[in-house]
Amino acid sequence: MVVAVDHNSGFCFGVKAAVQKAQEILVKHDSLYCLGEIVHNESEVERLSKMGLITIDHDQFFTLSNTTVLLRAHGEPPSTYQYARQNNIQLIDATCPIVVKLQKQIHADFKSTKGQKGQLIIYGKRGHAEVNGLVGQTNDEAIVIEYAIDLEQVDFSRPISLYAQTTKDLKGFHQLAGEIQRRAISAPVKIQDTICRQVSNRIPGIIEFAKRYPLILFVSGQKSSNGRMLFDICLSENPNSKFISCLGDISADWFKDIESVGICGATSTPKETLEQMAEAIRQMVD
Ligand code: SF4
Repeated sequence: MVVAVDHNSGFCFGVKAAVQKAQEILVKHDSLYCLGEIVHNESEVERLSKMGLITIDHDQFFTLSNTTVLLRAHGEPPSTYQYARQNNIQLIDATCPIVVKLQKQIHADFKSTKGQKGQLIIYGKRGHAEVNGLVGQTNDEAIVIEYAIDLEQVDFSRPISLYAQTTKDLKGFHQLAGEIQRRAISAPVKIQDTICRQVSNRIPGIIEFAKRYPLILFVSGQKSSNGRMLFDICLSENPNSKFISCLGDISADWFKDIESVGICGATSTPKETLEQMAEAIRQMVD
């Protein structure tokens, strides 16, 4: 049986840089705090925790002082930086440069349109770390649109600026933008497509990959936004696509009567994990 790994899969550069930063520090120090999971991938978090990375949540962060904390690629709201300054916490900031640019853009837009009663809308997943970081740039006033029903919070007679969480799907963003333009007849609407091409550029390749094999194994952490989005694309192209997080999720029955299987994954799944999985499957079917 042929077991093929998608050569386009693997970490995006933002996640790769954050993981590298953590590793570099842990080579010299026994431990390091990381605010939130460094990557939405359980096995990678476990690997780094064995090296000394201690994942903390925000409640724990706001009790710390006189220490060092790594900020992951998703970014953080201004309140995190303020607390760190006041409590002698050295931040190792691994926020992805694309997210930093988006945070600055949103902050500048919020400030410049506030006087004209502007509303800033973020197409994203409510409570997601990146979205929290973006909403924080607007004094927590931005409206997060996750589902169509959330549009009820928008006043369509006032100016609107629409942004997107970097890992959202382009199709959903364009549908939302169209709906906002349709409803806001008299008010100005500014559409800012801020979706990261590190994710969206993978879509055409993943569509082709999903069509090529009778079985697709999509490897991702359960909490990965781009993982869910890319998996849904695989599933729509190939109904025999399975979402898995580890080897234990695999059933040997899946490989009966098939000649090939394709393995791909999220931008938060390391390429090495896909290769290891491929090797384990080869041994399983042997
Ligand atoms: S998906 Fe894009 S914005 Fe998000 S961490 Fe990766 S490179 Fe940065």
